[in-house]
Amino acid sequence: MRSAIITGITGQDGSYLCEVLLNKGYVVHGIVRRSSSLERPRLLSQYNNTEIYGKRLFLHYADLSDTTSIRRIIAQTKPDEFYHLAGQSHVGLSFEIPESTCELTAMGTLRIMEILRDQPNNPKLLHASSREIFGTPKISPQDEYTPQNPNSPYGCAKAFATQMVRVYRESHGSFFCNAICYNHESPRRAENFVTRKITLAVARIKLGLQSKLMLGSVDSARDWGYAKEYAEAMWLILQHASPDDYVLATGTSHTVREFAQIAFEHVGLDWQQHVELDKRFVRPADAASLLGDASKAERILGWKAKTHLHELVRLMVDHDMKLLAGTQPMTDQ
Ligand code: NAP
Repeated sequence: MRSAIITGITGQDGSYLCEVLLNKGYVVHGIVRRSSSLERPRLLSQYNNTEIYGKRLFLHYADLSDTTSIRRIIAQTKPDEFYHLAGQSHVGLSFEIPESTCELTAMGTLRIMEILRDQPNNPKLLHASSREIFGTPKISPQDEYTPQNPNSPYGCAKAFATQMVRVYRESHGSFFCNAICYNHESPRRAENFVTRKITLAVARIKLGLQSKLMLGSVDSARDWGYAKEYAEAMWLILQHASPDDYVLATGTSHTVREFAQIAFEHVGLDWQQHVELDKRFVRPADAASLLGDASKAERILGWKAKTHLHELVRLMVDHDMKLLAGTQPMTDQ
């Protein structure tokens, strides 16, 4: 039975990846940090399943800054694969907390690579990199060879970690890979990301619980995919015969305005009557338009994003309508 460690298992991607690996027969070890709440809504169905939790799914406490604990967990569990997804994942927030963002995302990744390098069984590593490493690129669409030019503390930290993954691969022969992910969303997205903020607000407005939605720049364009499909791609990257880096993207770009318009229209509302612009939500520096070229992942791994914007928005709005009505838990989609 193959085994894997996932850091960030309680997050959006980690919870989907946990399901992908369990469905493939893996033993999964998740690293969780101590928090004041024991609630882990994205893992609820696995946690409550007595055939899974404690048999093929185990949770271990460690913070990313807690190197000795991470080393111990790796040494004891001897994973075949290590999926490094944990980190401060909010780009806008990284301007407010740059030091911890860089410490955990950049140095935290380096520390994990050093521990993995010492392991006799040479575990494979998947690092969740980001399109933020490109900043505001001069080339569109961006691929694995686009020059890195980050314009946020988060982007700088991810660029450092991404480059170090390549350095370890080329210098030490490690099976370390980067998934250079463009935005991917789902009903499990945290509420402080613009997509989920929109879909939750649409559901609340439709149900008469809220009247206005405040947004920053509605002109920013993003390449938005469905997180569930990106988790499958992360697994595929580590199954290929040789280690490499892959862009994961849909290859289509849409503005925040389009996202909001589709979401409101889906419940029969006019977005212009409910959305107000608020400068407080505009980032100090923001990439105007981002578009990924995932043709390498399609050519080599056979992976292609299937869910595009309209379907993604609709499934998120439908989920949040049911969530607020109390007819669906968060973990269902
Ligand atoms: P997420 O939902 O914010 O999840 C982040 C995870 O990291 C959570 O499980 C969180 O634990 C954990 N974490 C944060 N700080 C930690 C620490 N100090 N020690 C241990 N664990 C810590 O993010 P996501 O959307 O799943 O993204 C997964 C990874 O992909 C991240 O590295 C992100 O930067 C990267 N990425 C995501 C996207 C995207 O569009 N989603 C795009 C590009 C790259 P708690 O539950 O305790 O908070």
